[in-house]
Amino acid sequence: MKYIDEFQDPELARRLLDDIHATVTRPWALMEVCGGQTHSIIRHGIDQLLPPEVELIHGPGCPVCVTPLEVIDKALEIASRPGVIFCSFGDMLRVPGTGRDLFQVRGEGGDVRVVYSPLDALRIARQNPDREVVFFGIGFETTAPPNAMTVHQARKLGIQNFSMLVSHVRVPPAIEAIMSSPSCRVQGFLAAGHVCSVMGVEEYPELAERFRVPIVVTGFEPLDILEGVRRAVRQLERGEHTVDNAYARAVRPEGNPAARAMLEDVFEVTDRPWRGIGVIPDSGWRLSPKYRDHDAEHRFSVGGIRTEEPAECRSGEVLQGLLKPHECEAFGTLCTPRTPLGATMVSSEGACAAYYLYRRLDVPAAAAREASPVV
Ligand code: SF4
Repeated sequence: MKYIDEFQDPELARRLLDDIHATVTRPWALMEVCGGQTHSIIRHGIDQLLPPEVELIHGPGCPVCVTPLEVIDKALEIASRPGVIFCSFGDMLRVPGTGRDLFQVRGEGGDVRVVYSPLDALRIARQNPDREVVFFGIGFETTAPPNAMTVHQARKLGIQNFSMLVSHVRVPPAIEAIMSSPSCRVQGFLAAGHVCSVMGVEEYPELAERFRVPIVVTGFEPLDILEGVRRAVRQLERGEHTVDNAYARAVRPEGNPAARAMLEDVFEVTDRPWRGIGVIPDSGWRLSPKYRDHDAEHRFSVGGIRTEEPAECRSGEVLQGLLKPHECEAFGTLCTPRTPLGATMVSSEGACAAYYLYRRLDVPAAAAREASPVV
């Protein structure tokens, strides 16, 4: 398949690996920001092919994983209300809230529907003018533009019965929070290529300079990852810390101006809690006052819901790169994709799910025996 096969070429991968092995002289810890990159790394065993000096730390870039429990609880509350049609992408339905998930709300009679685009939810709102239709708008800078455009359309078309529960997050403040943590071990970043295809790269030079870390914009196929690692390691060995675009086939320095203009019109920057991490200043978006009529949190008065994260799930440490998933006591035993304790085991981009899918046989035999296979 074009743009896939040529970026999985084993001969080119070998050459990149040889270059990395020849370049490395001492230990380096790199963080891949995106959960899609984590899955590619674990699935293809890239971390096991790198020199032992190069450690890949899995970052917080999985949108389902970082959505805090209290936002899930707000979704559960809204979806349970009579007359509401609650629309969401499928991966949010099994994320556990306090005591239940959206699937259970549907089982109890709630009208919870899986959609493939926020525009599907807008269409449902037009078809059901006597019902309240709510779309669950979560994610990073990648999913924010279509969600912004949908709210913009709803306002323009005067569709009053459509609203959105928004929990969008932004990557640069998360990088700042990670680097500011006293326990941080990260020395360089593989930035998420798809985020940069929207936002461009102009937010990163200041971070690279302030924290003296190379930031390499990286794609998602095996050769993309290896090239990102190669460029980051080369900078580290030279004592450099610049922003480098290794995903030029998709990322322009200015990003996507039309998408950025839509984001600026519909959203405003706000502080956001990240699951297991806590509040990161200026790390999210909410609907701007101009679009408040379409804000589900406001419309259904659920802004006051506050929820403590469960103590048994250590996804906060996983999301900060302080713990590998299989080092969690519950991994593969109490916590599996069928019985998830945390969002990092539910999401298709979650680090715990990646280790369960591709590495669970590496965990101690007793734990592996008790794990119920899903794939
Ligand atoms: S394995 Fe399960 S309990 Fe442990 S951190 Fe991951 S999601 Fe949480």
